[in-house]
Amino acid sequence: MNGPTTPEEFRRQIAELMRQHLKGAPAPSEGQNFAGAEPKPEDPKPEPFDFNYKPREVKEYLDRFVIRQEEAKKVLSVALCDHYHHVRLALEGRESPNYAKQNIILVGPTGVGKTFLIRNAADLIGVPFAKADATKFSETGYVGADVEDMVRDLVRLADGDILRAQYGIIYIDEIDKIAAAAKRERPRCQRARRADQPAQINGGNGGSRPIRKRHRRPNPGHDGFHPARPQSPSTINTKHILFIVSGAFGGLENIVSHRLRSSAIGFAAAAKPPEKTEEILGSAQTRDFIQFGFEPEFIGRLPVRVVCHSLDTDDLFLILKNSEGSIVRQYEQDFAAYGIEVFFADDGLRRIAEKAGEEQTGARGLMTVCERVFRDIKFELPPPR
Ligand code: ADP
Repeated sequence: MNGPTTPEEFRRQIAELMRQHLKGAPAPSEGQNFAGAEPKPEDPKPEPFDFNYKPREVKEYLDRFVIRQEEAKKVLSVALCDHYHHVRLALEGRESPNYAKQNIILVGPTGVGKTFLIRNAADLIGVPFAKADATKFSETGYVGADVEDMVRDLVRLADGDILRAQYGIIYIDEIDKIAAAAKRERPRCQRARRADQPAQINGGNGGSRPIRKRHRRPNPGHDGFHPARPQSPSTINTKHILFIVSGAFGGLENIVSHRLRSSAIGFAAAAKPPEKTEEILGSAQTRDFIQFGFEPEFIGRLPVRVVCHSLDTDDLFLILKNSEGSIVRQYEQDFAAYGIEVFFADDGLRRIAEKAGEEQTGARGLMTVCERVFRDIKFELPPPR
């Protein structure tokens, strides 16, 4: 890449990568490797993928960590089981030729558990999980950061195990911002696009290409970046990588409710349009996402749509009290390191939840408030009893 990846170009890359193995994709891209390479004869044969969970079991696991988001947990459990059962069958040579990949779009405000859901699911399944922030791809200074970086991150997170990276999950947050930016930039990008763009993850080009060593500044949009170790040159097949995109989609609610209201006028006897934000977003259709700024070819490759709810004070209290990922566990450990056993009374937790609610950042507010509340106590440290 010679310049910054524009939102339009970045989104096109993701769409292209997702397209490669969907039903209806042109035949030449079937089975293609990252960067369009067929498996090399010396590449090791994939190991059998041991996945035997049922959706209910995945949901039960997620329940231990994620409070609320019942519908999201259900839909995700089904989609993840479908995907990884398909992966297992494919590796056993019993792949259905008509399978359409269950790429997912998660809609919901910040700090309500979108990433947390996927991270926990990836832990359960035992696959690497790479998260990136879509907006970073368009910032000047991160020249050329693109989809290839995310695939490389998966390999790093799989400790260089390319086989495992091939079944990983790529999670791209703030995709809504890129849709809006791309909509604004479209005329400029169309003028700028050249036919010979390099670094395209394009199914049609063929030819083998190794996973290149990172040759530019690290992209802070990738979770926990460490300078890349040189990888042994090989290719990675992106066929089974699951793509999940997410965002708050501010403005989508208005688009959907406007459509629902117009259709309610058209059919006077129709049921009353939903009024709650989550219900409205849950009724979002492909055409609403297109009006929001996505191109049909992109949104069409994200068939699983999940809405996450905002969290109220009761939910935040339950997160503190019951979630296995609760920050309270972390504080217990922090104090235990000094030989101090701490107990959190319910009314104290409730007060923290109330304060966190005022932050308007979902469960992220819990961390902010706890840090503020415990800062001095952690510094002074009460004597152990
Ligand atoms: P986002 O929705 O913006 O992706 P995250 O999933 O990253 O938010 O949430 C930030 C943190 O807040 C998580 O790591 C987790 O500790 C906590 N958290 C958020 N939502 C929930 C939830 N529904 N249940 C339990 N913990 C949650």
